[in-house]
Amino acid sequence: MSHVTKEEICDVDGCDKVAERSLNIKKVSETSLILKNPDARSVHLCKDHYKILKKETKGDIPDYLG
Ligand SMILES: [Zn+2]
Repeated sequence: MSHVTKEEICDVDGCDKVAERSLNIKKVSETSLILKNPDARSVHLCKDHYKILKKETKGDIPDYLG
């Protein structure tokens, strides 16, 4: 393995895409998304699932947290 940077993988159950966003789990738990680890404090989402989250929360989330 020559990769040095660890890529975060989407935390949605059944998804193995590279995560692009990190969000508070509170926001994600308000949506229909099912997470691999519901006990985590922050959630990593891929582009597609971030889109779904944004739709379901009516855009009421910042692009990045932390
Ligand atoms: Zn995903």
